[in-house]
Amino acid sequence: MTNSKTNNKPNIICTWVGSVEIFRVDGTEADICDAARRSTGKDLKNDSELTDRDKALIKKLFLEEHTSPFEMVGVVFHIKCPLFVLGQLVRHRTFSFNVFSQRYSEVGNQESISEDFYIPDVVFKQPEDRFKYTSNEYVDSKLLEEFNEDLRELSKLALLKYKKFRDLIPKEQRRFFLPTNTMTSLILKGDLHNLIKFFKLRLADDCQFETRIIATSMYSLVKSRFPVVAELFEREVLTGCRYSEIQKFKL
Ligand SMILES: Cc1cc2nc3c(=O)[nH]c(=O)nc-3n(C[C@H](O)[C@H](O)[C@H](O)COP(=O)(O)OP(=O)(O)OC[C@H]3O[C@@H](n4cnc5c(N)ncnc54)[C@H](O)[C@@H]3O)c2cc1C
Repeated sequence: MTNSKTNNKPNIICTWVGSVEIFRVDGTEADICDAARRSTGKDLKNDSELTDRDKALIKKLFLEEHTSPFEMVGVVFHIKCPLFVLGQLVRHRTFSFNVFSQRYSEVGNQESISEDFYIPDVVFKQPEDRFKYTSNEYVDSKLLEEFNEDLRELSKLALLKYKKFRDLIPKEQRRFFLPTNTMTSLILKGDLHNLIKFFKLRLADDCQFETRIIATSMYSLVKSRFPVVAELFEREVLTGCRYSEIQKFKL
């Protein structure tokens, strides 16, 4: 198993929604091959350099959905995101999480309101079709400013009320004032098989925009560590699913 923190691949991606950082990488693509070769009792290579035969093996495993070797490797992320994104991340039951506790720790210690609360850079127009979650069209800058002004005002008020009862009421109840755009942080651990399932859902067009940004950042970091699997994922899974273009978002 390899801890990739020491190599020169990107470790962190900061976006306007939050940040995603590699905390630990468990294994390499060679470990996927080694796990698969257990099926036939062949010698393990213990070598991180992939041969063409290894790449062909990964392709075969991927296409035939022989998924368990992909569970032998994975990534642990440190993620900073708003609470409403956290709510969607934790729906993925095969991941393990440890989340910042609003029972143990005080919220609102950052220097500016936009570090404690998510204030969006873009806001979309209400779609005419009421069955659609969102549109692809941004509102104009005037409406964005008005929206953000109200959001900033509400966030400041929430924090003021939260702090007002500081010496009287515990954090676990003062947090009732905190809105869903409050920033939080967590550790998320996922194996590659389930990360792929997650990316299929959360890189798709119909995923909440902000969650998609966080998922796209996670994907970029995973891709840099598991490029052969990522290429297969893009070619075999994303083509034809609800996904449009990963690079659509500037990270
Ligand atoms: C666009 C979008 C909109 C959504 N809207 C809503 C919504 O309105 N309300 C809402 O509640 N949720 C909503 N969700 C969440 C969604 O219903 C899933 O709970 C979430 O995406 C996790 O998917 P999953 O179960 O495949 O993933 P995971 O929980 O990570 O599971 C991964 C895989 O493990 C297997 N698995 C895990 N648990 C079980 C189990 N108990 N039984 C059998 N197999 C299991 C399945 O194969 C599953 O695909 C939405 C998701 C998306 C992407």
